[in-house]
Amino acid sequence: MTGPEIETLIGLMARLPGLGPRSARRIALRLLSEREQRLLPLIGALSVAAERVRVCSVCGGLDSRDPCAICGDPGREPMICVVESVADQWALERASIYRGRYHVLGGLLSAIGGRGPEQLGVPKLMARLDGSVREVILALPATVDGQSTAHYLTERIKSFAIPVTRLAQGVPVGGSIEILDEGTLALAMSARRAVPG
Ligand SMILES: [Zn+2]
Repeated sequence: MTGPEIETLIGLMARLPGLGPRSARRIALRLLSEREQRLLPLIGALSVAAERVRVCSVCGGLDSRDPCAICGDPGREPMICVVESVADQWALERASIYRGRYHVLGGLLSAIGGRGPEQLGVPKLMARLDGSVREVILALPATVDGQSTAHYLTERIKSFAIPVTRLAQGVPVGGSIEILDEGTLALAMSARRAVPG
């Protein structure tokens, strides 16, 4: 049997997304047996991230500065892509198909989950819709909550007279944006459709 320190470590890691007790155990063993090469650099990176990375007060993304690098980049096009999560934002950035700005909702509207527009930073999004924004792209999942969130946002944005589009084919029903491969994501972005207002 392993000691309580190791069990605590394994227990914490087993709760991380994509890991279970088996992989947590394997990773813990690797980290502890390769202390210099793996464990200490990881501790360093975690502690720097914990200290410096914050939620961007403008878009809800993550960065060590606030506003984040994307919000602070004057070269970004004056359009806002609305995503459910930072993971979706990262997927779009990785695909290098979009050079505008983002708004991370941090969830979807859900009657069952009790999440309303305020929890999702919708007022913040509305406050960003000044005359300079040329388009709002809804890159939300093709799930019931995703679609009702898209519908709600479209209704709210109507009064700003800004074109609203949504990602086109390629987003599977029930699927999230994050899991799409870069080619599919590029296609869905370039073939985005206007949302009838
Ligand atoms: Zn930002």
